[in-house]
Amino acid sequence: MKKKCKEIQNKIIDMHYGEIDENIEIISHIENCNDCNRFKEKLELALDYMKILNTQVDTSALEIDITKIIEKAYQTENKRKEKFELLIFIAASIVFLISSILFITNLDIRIYFYLQIFLYLNLPLILIPFYKLKTPRR
Ligand SMILES: [Zn+2]
Repeated sequence: MKKKCKEIQNKIIDMHYGEIDENIEIISHIENCNDCNRFKEKLELALDYMKILNTQVDTSALEIDITKIIEKAYQTENKRKEKFELLIFIAASIVFLISSILFITNLDIRIYFYLQIFLYLNLPLILIPFYKLKTPRR
């Protein structure tokens, strides 16, 4: 490699980093010298490749956002499940209330009280295993 070329190639690097302005001497040398022209193209390719690598670093930052989004979606789904369970509870309460009223108005009130006592005594026996089955999932 000619000494002049080495000098020009150093100036090409400086030019890329904006340390020196483009000047006619360098540009005319690049246009007339194959080695320096190829060097300039390789440098531009390398810089472009580095830009692509930098873009990929940005996508890793995006992946963190994706995990956050998934987490948020999961939380929203849990909230929706809780709402659904609350809705079932409200619906069951209404059904129980209506059936209670129907019991009182249509049947002997004693039967209702017997049923109430029966439910209060037996409901924990039904609900506790149900509750224990549900908790490990949460
Ligand atoms: Zn040259």
